[in-house]
Amino acid sequence: MSDNLGSETRPLRVAIIGSGPSGFYAAEGLLRSGLRVKVDMFEKLPPPFGLVRYGVAPDHPKIKKVTRVYEKTGKKEGFEYFGNVNIGEDLSVEDLKQHYDAQIYACGAQTDRQLNIPGIDLPGSYTATEFVAWYNGHPEYIDREFDLNQEIAFIIGQGNVAMDVARILAKTVDELKNTDIAQYALEALAKSKVREIHLVGRRGPAQTAFTPPEIKEFGELAACDPVVKPEDLVLNETSRQELEDPKFREKKRNYEILKGYSEGGTHEKPKKFLVHFFRSPIELVGDGKLEKVIFCKNVLVGEPGRQKAKFTDERVEIKGGLFFRSVGYRGVPIEGVPFHDAWGIFPNTDGRIEGAPGFYAVGWIKRGPSGVIGTNKADSIATVKGLLADLPDLIPCPKPDTGAVSEILKTKGVAVVTFADWGKIDAAEIANGKKVGKPREKFVTVKEMLRVIEK
Ligand code: NAP
Repeated sequence: MSDNLGSETRPLRVAIIGSGPSGFYAAEGLLRSGLRVKVDMFEKLPPPFGLVRYGVAPDHPKIKKVTRVYEKTGKKEGFEYFGNVNIGEDLSVEDLKQHYDAQIYACGAQTDRQLNIPGIDLPGSYTATEFVAWYNGHPEYIDREFDLNQEIAFIIGQGNVAMDVARILAKTVDELKNTDIAQYALEALAKSKVREIHLVGRRGPAQTAFTPPEIKEFGELAACDPVVKPEDLVLNETSRQELEDPKFREKKRNYEILKGYSEGGTHEKPKKFLVHFFRSPIELVGDGKLEKVIFCKNVLVGEPGRQKAKFTDERVEIKGGLFFRSVGYRGVPIEGVPFHDAWGIFPNTDGRIEGAPGFYAVGWIKRGPSGVIGTNKADSIATVKGLLADLPDLIPCPKPDTGAVSEILKTKGVAVVTFADWGKIDAAEIANGKKVGKPREKFVTVKEMLRVIEK
């Protein structure tokens, strides 16, 4: 029990684990609370910003501008950044308990949901997560190889991640070369033989999870035409009702754009983006590597807004050797923090992690992988409000000292990256990018990043 946490003499000490949008919005909320707060943010990789740096597609630079807001937070008094520090390895959750009154987990959803079907592990079958991390230069994914010698690619799922993957496969080098895409990925994509990109949804054209600007972009690409079969756009009565509901305005807009694609187009461009509905992959087939995918045709059953895909007996086979599953992300556990395995999140009530007083969650590890970057602002503020309301009940940590945390890391030989250090990495990346007409040329290994700081 404490009544002076947050005072001049005893600032409230909060560790934030993860430096993506939700972590920065939580930090900002704490620093604006009017209390004396010390926020220490821990990030596994040297650079901050999580999914903005390693998830947002390189050809969507406007979305990345949001980091300017986080940069301001990073320079505020009371905020300290510990990059290149892996919680669970370099520091344990128990270590944090010793030095912080509260812990906010902002570690996102770092892996992908599974698609448990025969053949899923055949060479040629990949997750969207790894492809996205690869083209964005994530140090843990730079060695991945994708068989871009294939002409036919499948992407399963119809969310915005699936759209990002499809667009990167569909764009020409000219459309990508002035982005911050990893250079090795640009070179590999330049040699890509992919000509047909099949985007496959288990439900119908009224249940798409992508947003209208994303599907609209496919009508504007230099070398790829969108193709939609009119018979795939036939709606059942329930779907028609859904599209009339103002709640589903975006899905209606998606439907209209898809309808436009089904009606026109000369389809002369060398690449095709084919959108399919009512199909689920049930088996990946191949001798030593993927050769074809067997799909089951589905029908929809259920109430408006809750229709589910139901398998029929009808099967369709399509030949092709490149397969990406993009069916959502899920969180990964950290030792010492409760984890809900089925949901892939830290179980919580309004951000308070269940069974762990003083532990909080924000962002995707709190609510699952949904919403756009801006969604995290209100979400993080709500958790911070809860934390501040809990203040009288928080048990003050026994060793309220950031110097002691730095000492542990020093003893373990961890090269901590500060926010000022990040400034140097950032400047060097921007300078390197300028030489080749890119907004930045990312360093793709931790070693290279640390070398910049040592200079
Ligand atoms: P998502 O929006 O949840 O989409 C997942 C897709 O996978 C849905 O089409 C879903 O279909 C399908 N799916 C799930 N399980 C399946 C299964 N077993 N078989 C076949 N299909 C299956 O997830 P996401 O694309 O990973 O995106 C995550 C979040 O990031 C979203 O909120 C997204 O909007 C956001 N994001 C935004 C941007 C942007 O703003 N540009 C870019 C990337 C990501 P059902 O609908 O049938 O479940």
